[in-house]
This record gives sequence, C-alpha cells and structure tokens, in this order.
Amino acid sequence: MNFIVLTIFPEMFKPFWEHGIVSRAINQDKISVSAIDIRDFAQGKHRTTDDRPYGGGCGMIMKPEPLAGAIRAAEKKAPLSKRILLTPQGRPFDQRVAEELASSDGLILVCGRYEGVDERICHDFIDDEISIGDYILTGGELAAMVIVDAVTRLIPGVLGGKDSAEKDSFSDSVLEHAHYTRPRVFEDDEVPGVLLSGNHKEIERWRLETSLIRTFLKRRDLLENRPLSSQEIEILKKWCLDIEKIIHDQSLYGPDPLSGGQQEG
Ligand code: SAM
Repeated sequence: MNFIVLTIFPEMFKPFWEHGIVSRAINQDKISVSAIDIRDFAQGKHRTTDDRPYGGGCGMIMKPEPLAGAIRAAEKKAPLSKRILLTPQGRPFDQRVAEELASSDGLILVCGRYEGVDERICHDFIDDEISIGDYILTGGELAAMVIVDAVTRLIPGVLGGKDSAEKDSFSDSVLEHAHYTRPRVFEDDEVPGVLLSGNHKEIERWRLETSLIRTFLKRRDLLENRPLSSQEIEILKKWCLDIEKIIHDQSLYGPDPLSGGQQEG
C-alpha cells in the first residue's frame, strides 16, 4: 500500500513515519509513504499557496494551481491511487471505511489548511472526501495520520498476532472484551479467576460476555444494528433471567424503604 500525503507541512510527518507499527510496516515493505510539499508547486517568489476568497469574507483559501500540480505529481508516482480530500464535510471515517481503504492500491491524502481548498479541486481532482469527526481541525495533517494509522494496521502481516485486527473493537460491530496483564493483584483488585483457569473454552465465553456487556453499556447502538449469533442470544437471555431474579427477590422484601414506604404503581 502506497500512501502519499500532500501538505504544506511535510515535516509534521517525519516523526509519525518513524514510530511504532507504521515505522515497522515501512521497514518491512508492507507500506511505502511520502509527503509532497504543496508549496513546491506554487508560483512566484513567495510560493504562495493561499489567497483571499472571491465574494469577500474572512480567512484564506488554498489556491487551486499548487494543489492540482501536487495531485498530478502524486498520480504520476502512484497512478492507481484513490485521491482523498480530508475535510470536515466528508463522509465519516470509521472502521468500515478503514477496511474499504485498506483494499485499495494506494491513497493520495490531500490536507487542507486555512478555510479549506478551492472548490474546483474537489470537483475535478478528488475521488472521495473524508472527515475524521464533527469538529474542526486547523489542518488535514492529523486527519491524514489517523487514516494512515488505522489503514496500515489492517494490511495483512502488519500486526504481530495473525488475528489481532480481527478481534479489535468495531471489527465485528462490538467493542473488544476487557484485558488484564501482570500483576495478578493490583491495589487489591484481582484478575478474574477464569482468565487464570487455563480453560480456553471458558475464557472465550467470558471474553464474548464482557464484550457484549461493554457494548450494551457503552455503545448500545452497535448491538441494535447487528445480527446476534445463537451463543450471543443465549448470553443476553441469561442476563435477562438474572436481572428478573434480582427484581423478583427484591420485591419480596416489601415496600421500597427509600421511597418512604410508598410502593410505585
Ligand atoms: N472552513 C472549513 C469548513 O467549515 O468546512 C474548515 C476548514 S479547516 C479550518 C482547515 C482544514 O483542516 C480543512 O480543509 C481540512 O483539510 C482539515 N480538517 C479540519 N477538520 C477536519 C475533520 N474533522 N476531518 C478531516 N479534515 C479536517
């Protein structure tokens, strides 16, 4: 996978390429990365990349000529790449979009600055517009890094364990189960016994159960939009019965002491 970032701040990417999984993926030739300086395609003594908006108003707009030049140069290097503009007006980036992008030949990531880019660039030089969330950044560079990072870890062979990415949160539309490591007891808080049991079937079931619990408590919308397996339905039904039992047992104690003896009707 070939990532080419177009930016007026290429230096921002050096430390990013040099750390963690992204750096390892580059060294193992799983990905290639480069940053093209949009300013190299600007004309004039000052190599200006921005100008005032037609029609007036505040802020500056990225000029079309340097952007077009930079995109064409990137296309020459990687002709099959998808051209993506980072913009808060784009389609939301999530794990599904990351998976979709991971199957492309390459990505040309265009980073805006100021008030954004001249609209004619969006019309004629861009295949897709992506937003990393409903907030406004000062530039597209951090958004480009988010995409490179999320897509890189999905490329086969990049992560250590063969199935680490498959078990991550969102990959199966549920949040990942809880994790524990040494020490066994940390400040009086002990690792759940099942994880020390060596019983892999029980451990898998416990993981599925904690995964469902946290998805239900933190991101119920994910569960509502996803078909459940028979084992998941069985686990959810067991909770229902457990909760019903607690309610039933509590109601045997009579009126609620907290409501001053008044039973709710
Ligand atoms: N005036 C623009 C608007 O309201 O849509 C926002 C411009 S923003 C200050 C400058 C640049 O940062 C954008 O051109 C884009 O490249 C990048 N950017 C800002 N927020 C972003 C987001 N949520 N996702 C992706 N890129 C973003």
